[in-house]
Order: sequence, then C-alpha cells, then structure tokens
Amino acid sequence: MGTWQDIFAAKIADMHLTEPWMLQEDDSLQVHVLKPGWKEFVQRRALGRFQCSQCFREWSSAKVHILFHMCRRQGQGTVRMRVFRQECRRCSDPRLEEPEFSQETMERLLHNLVLKILKYFYHLPTQPSDLLEVVVDHTTLGVGPHDSARCEGCQLGVCSESRLVPALDAWEPLMDADKARTHRTLKRQGVRPYATPTHHPSPFNSNFVWKRCCCIVSSLLCVLAALIFVLLYFTK
Ligand SMILES: [Zn+2]
Ligand SMILES: [Zn+2]
Repeated sequence: MGTWQDIFAAKIADMHLTEPWMLQEDDSLQVHVLKPGWKEFVQRRALGRFQCSQCFREWSSAKVHILFHMCRRQGQGTVRMRVFRQECRRCSDPRLEEPEFSQETMERLLHNLVLKILKYFYHLPTQPSDLLEVVVDHTTLGVGPHDSARCEGCQLGVCSESRLVPALDAWEPLMDADKARTHRTLKRQGVRPYATPTHHPSPFNSNFVWKRCCCIVSSLLCVLAALIFVLLYFTK
C-alpha cells in the first residue's frame, strides 16, 4: 500500500501537472486559519478504521475528517494535511487515535484534492459531480452515528458548518463550506420541480379529455343510428 505522498504524486502525474507539488502531514493545521494565498479544502466523510491503544477495541467511522491547506508559489505547490483523530468510547481516559484508511479511500481523497488544486491554482473548471465519494460501502461495516464528543475534528470546529444545515442527503461530496451549500441548494432546486406534479398532469389531462370526447362522440353516433333505424322502420 502506497503512502499519502506516493498516491498524491501519482495523482498529480495523472492530471498532467508538470509543476512540482508536495504533500506534508501537519498536525498543527487549524480550520479556517489561512495565510494569504492559501486555500482550504475539508473532507468530512471519509471512511477510516481506528484501534484503541489501551483496550485494543476497534471501530470504524464513516466521518473521519481531513483538512487540506494548499498554496502555489513560484511554480511549485505545497499541500499541508491534517487527519483528525478520534477517542475510544470504552476507555475512561482515552487517547486520540489515528485512523487507518484503505488504499481506495486514500486514492479518492487525493483525487478530490487534486481537482481542487486544478480549480484554485490552474483555473480548470471542475464540477461538484467530479468529486468522488470517499465513503465506500459503509453500510456493510455497521458504522453507528458520528460521536462528535470523541472526534478531534468536531471539537476543533470542522463540523460546525454541517451541524447548522441538516443533512438532507445520505452523502454529500465534501467541498469547502460555501461550495457545499451552493451544491445543496442547486440540488434542491434541481430535484423539487420534478418531484412536484405540476408538469405531469398536462399529458394526463389531454389524454383524459380526448377519451371523454371519444365517449361523447360514440354515444351520439349510437343515438343517431337508433334514430335512423326508427325512422326507416316507420317510413316503410
Ligand atoms: Zn479503549
Ligand atoms: Zn467529527
């Protein structure tokens, strides 16, 4: 399994970026604390596995938070990355434990990161739908609700945005907060008109009217035929 740096280098090469970019892990990174020229990208729903270093209990979380700060200067780029830890629920004096990720999750996280780099520093248009879901198959893992009290990221304000807006989707691609909001509103605007039956009745109605017309015309024809029959019968 590759390291974060190996996978990141491969992703940068895949996207045909020739400028050098490097990725550093930095546990001092703070959410929304950026120097001029730096950009932030937060992914709040990655799937990771933890193990308590004291009682050895294992747990999975589909809401591991990862913070990226990135900057491009003089033809080279730097990304700082912080993976937020979680505490064991069983221990009374727990330590913050680091998560482990599958290769696939790491690839998806870094794919999304590189898309952000292309957008922010090379002005290449990217769609929210280009971002890959970083929760892979969490339904089979029996992941419970997110325990914010034992999550380092939540304690440092990573989740404050998502707490204000109720989660409408089972999953949302993780973008910077304002992007996420526009994505949600777009989604809402996009879905609702189709869901409300304002457009559908018209074909249904015209069909209904047409059927009714046919009914009336055929009954009129029947009456006419009966009249003609009676007239012919009596004129004979
Ligand atoms: Zn424990
Ligand atoms: Zn959290």
